[in-house]
Amino acid sequence: SGYRKVLEENRKLYNQVQDLKGNIRVYCRVRPFLPGQPSGLSVVEATDDQTLTIPNPGKYGKGKKSFNFNKVFGPSASQEQVFSDTQPLIRSVLDGYNVCIFAYGQTGSGKTYTMTGPKELTTEGLGVNYRALGDLFQISEQRKDSICYEIYVQMIEIYNEQVRDLLVTDVNTLEIRNNSSNGVNVPNANLVPVTSTTEVIHLMTLGHKNRTVGSTAMNDRSSRSHSCLTVHVQGRDLTSGSTLRGCMHLVDLAGSERADKSEAIGDRLKEAQHINRSLSALGDVISSLAQKQSHVPYRNSKLTQLLQDSLGGQAKTLMFVHISPEPDALGETISTLKFAERVSTIELGAARTNK
Ligand code: ADP
Repeated sequence: SGYRKVLEENRKLYNQVQDLKGNIRVYCRVRPFLPGQPSGLSVVEATDDQTLTIPNPGKYGKGKKSFNFNKVFGPSASQEQVFSDTQPLIRSVLDGYNVCIFAYGQTGSGKTYTMTGPKELTTEGLGVNYRALGDLFQISEQRKDSICYEIYVQMIEIYNEQVRDLLVTDVNTLEIRNNSSNGVNVPNANLVPVTSTTEVIHLMTLGHKNRTVGSTAMNDRSSRSHSCLTVHVQGRDLTSGSTLRGCMHLVDLAGSERADKSEAIGDRLKEAQHINRSLSALGDVISSLAQKQSHVPYRNSKLTQLLQDSLGGQAKTLMFVHISPEPDALGETISTLKFAERVSTIELGAARTNK
């Protein structure tokens, strides 16, 4: 019957969510060639929904290389498909879990596309951030007879190890406080109540305008800051009066390319060094969590401090690793895959036998 199907579906979702606890999942997404680019020369191939293959690594190694992920999305995957595998994770925020979703990859590999969408936003193009909030609104509406939810967002940028509020136009540097009583760890950043996706789009548009952008040799509008949309959820059970709190960080990381590639000097070089340092601090935190080490080095960067409450323990973490298909990008693609390998609890790089 229909009812049994719903139960079955719920159990499946529940199991997936339980799987995610304390673990990091890694999803890989390959960007399509862009209009105007010569196509058909992709250096990577999504051989199945969990395997990415580099048929010919050239100077980076002999013979084809395969990498396994929890999920691989090829260049034709839609925003909706990418989101549907993220949904159970997001829903658990309403049950009081902390969740962290990152977009990692070199500049131009599609991080912003996954998290936000294309420059000209369409309904189909809406990225994970909007869809996630949309889901939270929808489910809180469905549960409104038993639980009263309040949803708030913050939008923060980390640039050169300084934390800034993206929802105000004046430059300000904020402090991170972990273990605050209300779970808000950047207490002086705007915390805006939201009730609809339209409001979120409005806020994020403002935030993106305020985000630091400059120019490098690789991409003249590349972002060299980490931006983070944080969602705070508070739910009150209308019968018992008990409350729960969940938090979700949606992070569009700065480009992972190495400084020497972008021919950076002066300020650009300093930015690149800050980025490299904070991304490796993130890698260190995640890999020490994956190895269940007793000391987790959260305090080595502002980024890991910001995310501390949502990494490890009962929190659920998902990393989207972005891959560019171009031959020029192969060196960066390989170092991106090495990063993924370092933070993954699944065995990556172990070539699968061909089936
Ligand atoms: P990043 O944030 O990693 O620097 P972007 O998200 O800005 O990269 O992507 C670079 C360009 O590629 C943008 O023009 C974006 O719209 C386009 N793009 C990225 N991923 C996709 C995709 N999956 N499908 C279509 N276009 C994409």
